[in-house]
Amino acid sequence: MFEPLPQYPDHPALEEEILAWWEDARIFDRLRERNRGGPHWSFFDGPKTANTTDGLGVHHLWGRTYKDVFQRYKALQGFDQRYQNGFDCQGLWVEVKVERDLGLNSKREIEEYGMDAFARRCRELVAESARVITQQSIRLGQWMDWGNDYYTFSDTNIEYIWRFLKTLHDRGQLYQGHRSTEWCPRCGTSISQHELSQSDVYRDRSDPSLFVRFPLKGRDRESLVVWTTTPWTLPANVAAAVNPEAEYGKRDTGEWVAVERFPEDTFVERVRGSELVGLEYEGPYDHLQPAHEIVHRVIPWDEVSLDEGTGIVHIAPGAGTEDFELSKVHDLPVLVPVDESGRFLPEYGWLHGTPTGDAADQIVGDLRERGLLENAETYVHRYPHCWRCETPLIFRVVDDWFIAVEELRPKLLEANAGVQWTPAFYGKRMDDWLRNLGDWNISRKRYFGLPLPIYPCACGHVNVIGSKAELEERATSGLDQLEELHRPWVDNVPIRCESCGEEVRRVPEVGDVWLDAGIVPFATLGWQNPEWIAEGYATGAAKGLTRADLPDHAYWEKWFPAHWVTEMREQIRLWFYSLLFMSVVLDGRAPYQQVLGHEDVRDEHGH
Ligand SMILES: [Zn+2]
Ligand SMILES: [Zn+2]
Repeated sequence: MFEPLPQYPDHPALEEEILAWWEDARIFDRLRERNRGGPHWSFFDGPKTANTTDGLGVHHLWGRTYKDVFQRYKALQGFDQRYQNGFDCQGLWVEVKVERDLGLNSKREIEEYGMDAFARRCRELVAESARVITQQSIRLGQWMDWGNDYYTFSDTNIEYIWRFLKTLHDRGQLYQGHRSTEWCPRCGTSISQHELSQSDVYRDRSDPSLFVRFPLKGRDRESLVVWTTTPWTLPANVAAAVNPEAEYGKRDTGEWVAVERFPEDTFVERVRGSELVGLEYEGPYDHLQPAHEIVHRVIPWDEVSLDEGTGIVHIAPGAGTEDFELSKVHDLPVLVPVDESGRFLPEYGWLHGTPTGDAADQIVGDLRERGLLENAETYVHRYPHCWRCETPLIFRVVDDWFIAVEELRPKLLEANAGVQWTPAFYGKRMDDWLRNLGDWNISRKRYFGLPLPIYPCACGHVNVIGSKAELEERATSGLDQLEELHRPWVDNVPIRCESCGEEVRRVPEVGDVWLDAGIVPFATLGWQNPEWIAEGYATGAAKGLTRADLPDHAYWEKWFPAHWVTEMREQIRLWFYSLLFMSVVLDGRAPYQQVLGHEDVRDEHGH
């Protein structure tokens, strides 16, 4: 009655057999045909970064399994569904991998290699990676509409982001800011708040812990003692901050510190912090040209912590976010000591060319020699690293482009409040994130990414282009060589300023990768697109990689918002956030009704 079964079933062989049957009997196609026209259930796939040919990790397989199980369940209930898989294709993810493959390790080397050749290598990597991911996903048994995938580097995807940015510009919510920002010296670009929230960004790191004397001017053998874990910032020092309410004491050595920090010490004099405010001191690097003329003084700051250090904080506005904000309050000079690769600038004399990390030992030795070092230890703390190349980050003051958040915040909170989160406390995490969100830094000083469509003019007008058609209409030259909307080609298309008529060029910056993935519900579903275009999404770099259509607006209305999306927890501040943000800007609604978040999963090697 039954066929005998082997004692040990061969699971891989069974899976292959079932996959072959699905293929031969067109099971997936028949399922979709059967459900077509039935009630619909909308799911958006979060794009997998196509930057490796090593294949999928166990956490990808885990996430894909959730997606597949839910879509199958809904299919068995008769729901008509879209099964569009997505690939993330540009930005640091792809660039850093290509740099490593080519043995390049700086922006100068990329430029020498050639931006066009570099862009081609990036596209090749994406194509190969997408091929491997597709093959493995099919082997996993995932049912998706393979071949009709979305690729975030398509011109269409880019154009939709341009339109989003132009919308913000029209509303006065896009601006250029001069800020102190976390900066990766290897990648040569700033890093934004949400990028820092990715796993493994904050790692334990051992740094020097220095107690340094700043001799007070006009006071015999008296000095302030400051504490720092970033010696490279000392040459950029311009002020020292005290807590005006705290009590400070002078040791018999003449050293001033907060009394609360050193309860065991004996002090020969005690004063309120406010009484130290205004005193001038000799800066630690006044003999180097940049600090030479600067009058270093003591400033009040309520935020000075009495939990660590000496209660006197060294302030370098060119090398720290809070320091930079204080410089505006107290009109302090801003010294930016390092270039974009994190090396000291020529005016820093003997430090010229030294990377910030290597400078630490030299600075410690120098301070010791000059008798300014009160104490030196090491300190283990959580320190941010580049999410892509793992280099420790530094702070730099640079010009970046930002989206103003304040006006949008109540709308974002309201939209999130209507989303059903599983588990429910992930919704609370999103709420917390949105409440504390700063302006979105969208610019990256890189190459193969979303070209920001911003063309500032000397007349003061900022031109923002909203589509490829608009670019073509306003271009003064260069259209014949515009292969796709990427650097270097797009940089060679200047436009006419709409205010004064002068020729203007695009800013060199590319966009944050989370813009690429956040626009997907608009770019792939044909939002405000008047007519359905067959294979209309397969544009620019995506041409030849997918056959995806660009649907029309009626289709968008049917499939937006998603009934359900799912990704790993860290996507709350990443994809779920950028999706929500961009949808609220363009449509005023959340792009998803239900979200399933899940924890991270690792393999036996911890990957
Ligand atoms: Zn980096
Ligand atoms: Zn102009």
